[in-house]
Amino acid sequence: MSKRPSLRGIQSVSGSGPGLDYDALVARDAAELLCRQSVGGLAVSAFASSFLAYMALGRAPLWHVIAWWLAMTGGLAIRSLDLLFSRRRRSSPAWSGGREILRFGCGVVLTAAIWIAFPLVFFSSLGGAGRTAMTIILSAMAGGSATVLGASLSLSIGYCAAMLLPVSIMFLRAGGQDDQILGMLGGIFFATMVLSSRVSHTSTMAALRLSRTNQGLLIEVEGQRNLAEQTNSELQTAQFALRQANLSLEARVQARTVDLEREVAERKRYAEELSRLASTDPLTGLYNRAMLSDRLFATLANAEESGGSVAVLFVDLDKFKEVNDVKGHHAGDRVLQVVAERLSGSLRPGTDLARWGGDEFVVVQKALGDPHEAVVLAEALRESLGRPIEIDLETILIDATIGISIFPEHGKAPDELIRAADVAMYAGKEEKRGKVRIFDPSLAEELVERHQLEQALREAIATDSLSLAFQPIVGASSEQCEALEALLRWDHPARGPIPPSEFIPIAERSGQILSIGSWVLREACCAAASWTGERPPAVSVNVSAAQVLSGDLAAEVFAALVRSGLPPHRLHIELTESLFAGDHGRIVSTLSRLREKGVRVSIDDFGTGFSSLAYLQNLPIDIVKIDRSFVRTMERDSHPVISAIVSISRALNLRMIAEGVENPAQAAMLRAMGVDYFQGYLYAKPLPASSVAQWLAERRDAFALASGSMAEQLAGLAGAALQYETTGDSPRVIPDGVEAR
Ligand code: C2E
Ligand code: MG
Ligand code: MG
Repeated sequence: MSKRPSLRGIQSVSGSGPGLDYDALVARDAAELLCRQSVGGLAVSAFASSFLAYMALGRAPLWHVIAWWLAMTGGLAIRSLDLLFSRRRRSSPAWSGGREILRFGCGVVLTAAIWIAFPLVFFSSLGGAGRTAMTIILSAMAGGSATVLGASLSLSIGYCAAMLLPVSIMFLRAGGQDDQILGMLGGIFFATMVLSSRVSHTSTMAALRLSRTNQGLLIEVEGQRNLAEQTNSELQTAQFALRQANLSLEARVQARTVDLEREVAERKRYAEELSRLASTDPLTGLYNRAMLSDRLFATLANAEESGGSVAVLFVDLDKFKEVNDVKGHHAGDRVLQVVAERLSGSLRPGTDLARWGGDEFVVVQKALGDPHEAVVLAEALRESLGRPIEIDLETILIDATIGISIFPEHGKAPDELIRAADVAMYAGKEEKRGKVRIFDPSLAEELVERHQLEQALREAIATDSLSLAFQPIVGASSEQCEALEALLRWDHPARGPIPPSEFIPIAERSGQILSIGSWVLREACCAAASWTGERPPAVSVNVSAAQVLSGDLAAEVFAALVRSGLPPHRLHIELTESLFAGDHGRIVSTLSRLREKGVRVSIDDFGTGFSSLAYLQNLPIDIVKIDRSFVRTMERDSHPVISAIVSISRALNLRMIAEGVENPAQAAMLRAMGVDYFQGYLYAKPLPASSVAQWLAERRDAFALASGSMAEQLAGLAGAALQYETTGDSPRVIPDGVEAR
């Protein structure tokens, strides 16, 4: 048995409704075949029946012949019409092959019945020839049915039977020998036709099934081809998408590569910039500390290998802080840049130069033959820095102190050598012995001590361990206490009292002088405000240059006065000469503001420093304090100096105080020269704050006993006009002229 093909393809191609199976489709084909082949069969039937009717005319009754012919023609017409309509039926999806065969069979049975009637009605009427012609025609019809009705075995056999059996029976019943033979031949022919119909039916159905099977296979092949084509097209689509993805990936990779290259270049630039920033000082472009240390390390390693010498020069600018404070940071920065340019311009190529910090620079001189070469280089550097620097149409003069250390004598490690050079530089600054100094091991101890002192001073400020002593200033003639100078005292817990000459410079260098100075000002004003009496004395406070240049001294003074309640005329400010060497603008405005309020200004230690007649004349000052070094030596050689100071001061209408008056002879000479006031051990040593009130009271008492009113005595001795100041808490004597300035 052949394998039934799948109907999936057949159904989809034929457009049949769901549920149709293979047999139903073959049945449809069989029905269609029957209908198609019957068209010729009906035509042959019409012709054959008409011929037989014609043959029967005249031999049988006419109406029999016409009735049979009309019945046959009617039957054939009905079948023809049915065939015609069957076309439309077949186009319906619900069309059933089995039903169509049944319907067709009914038509066949109808015409077969009419054919059966012919021999039954007309056999006896027909003669021998008529019967023979009838037999031939019916046999031909039976033969044709095997093919025409081959699609239905029952119809083809039934039709054959209807064509052959009635006529054969009629011949057998006729009784003649020939008729008997013809009857039997008819039976044999029928049997043959049955076999032939079976064969024809089998081959017809096989052909129909085969056709359907082939069609199914074709459809399946077509489906698979479509599927393959679809797969192929999907494959092509996938390949295309893959190619596109590849192209886009390549483009992205290319773009990313460009990005990466740019990123790498940027990072490289960034790393270079970072390393440049990490190794250089942004303001001057010189090496910074870290870089110099690295390079010095390498230089020392080389020198150690080759047995050579290296010099480290520590350069510190003098009074750079003042430039910064007075001229501003912009000018300070420009000065540092110019200094950097000049230093590098004075060095041999290959010499390392760095900005160590602030106004400090470090030079590393390699392959040193003799330590003296370093001194020569240091002097050359100082000389180049000493040339005037022009900034914003102003000329700035800068000097530097340079400390030198030598490898391997003063140290083997970079930091050791730099520290040694730094110590040498500090020593140079402090001792004022020379602006270029080579390290000396004893210097290190000094530095450590200074450092410790600085730390201890910091603590002393924090723990309020500083105190003030007050030294009276008396009238030269009246010997009455006119003022007391506030002098700072520091009682170190371990070392005992430390003189101001030792710790004030440290405080100035470390910047602590600003807070210390403020404290002294507040403390002195408070103490003075507590001094009572008819005419309480003023207080004279020492003020450092840093306080005038960095802070707002006038505001600080006014705050201290308000806080203590001390009237301004009872406060004197002492400034040293060195302050007036620099820019006058800021100092003049500060002093003028103070003097406007009534505060007096003294020049301390006059004659020891930057003595210039010009500033005496131009600055807003009231009193000149003649340094005690002149008083000490006045009996030997300073007499003319003091005389000169007195005449100048007189000419400029300034009052004078002589410092360090220790004996009556000095006092007498100074008095004779015309000095207004005296300060010194002859009258009193600096007194603890707690003893001042008592000392003043004793002094007042002694003075009252010795003489009448102080005002009268002053007037008598100095011949000066007396002025009574009515401002403040009590009237007091103001030397003539002071107020007027
Ligand atoms: P100065 O302002 O010239 O103070 C006078 C110094 O001379 C004081 O020294 C005082 O004790 C001393 N002296 C006074 N009479 C005599 C005398 O007859 N013979 C001798 N041999 N010396 C006498 P001191 O207290 O050691 O002060 C030294 C310097 O310290 C002061 O000199 C002043 O420049 C500074 N100083 C003191 N206190 C302060 C302060 O509060 N602030 C600032 N910035 N400097 C201060
Ligand atoms: Mg003083
Ligand atoms: Mg002094």
